[in-house]
Amino acid sequence: QEEVVFSLNDLIDQVSTFVYPRLLELKVSLQQDMQKNLFVKGIQEEIRQVIINIIFNAIEVMANTNEESVIHIKGYQKNNLVYLEASNTGPKIPDSLIKNIFEPFVTTKKTGTGLGLYVSRQIIEKHHGQLLCSSNEQWTTFTIILPIPEEKA
Ligand code: ADP
Ligand code: MG
Repeated sequence: QEEVVFSLNDLIDQVSTFVYPRLLELKVSLQQDMQKNLFVKGIQEEIRQVIINIIFNAIEVMANTNEESVIHIKGYQKNNLVYLEASNTGPKIPDSLIKNIFEPFVTTKKTGTGLGLYVSRQIIEKHHGQLLCSSNEQWTTFTIILPIPEEKA
């Protein structure tokens, strides 16, 4: 697998199509707010895996609730960085968990591995980026921050 410059917009479209059947089933609405022409440099399969991990985690939260469920994906560019925010409605992640959420084997699921976010952060850091999490009573948000490829800056 080699590093390439690829369209984050196209990747989000592909991932949305991939998760769409499951979202329909759970009556989760997916909102997208993507600035045009966002590009990232790296191994596309790995970045795809990170986004899918984050969305599947969100879906698992929503599979366990009767509240109205929304996943919101927002992409934009600021100061030579590309931001991708994936937010979902759901209960606030307690501070005690959010502190350790990127550590390996931290899981609250009966059959969880607790590796998804750990591996995701490793991948993003390998791409010279950051993966962050914040959570309040309404929304939980995972933010991927990556440098704009030199070719596009
Ligand atoms: P796993 O999914 O196997 O549990 P992850 O590393 O993907 O491992 O996630 C670790 C834990 O973080 C989950 O078990 C869950 O408690 C919490 N978590 C992850 N994403 C969310 C989310 N969107 N909302 C609430 N909790 C979350
Ligand atoms: Mg997971």
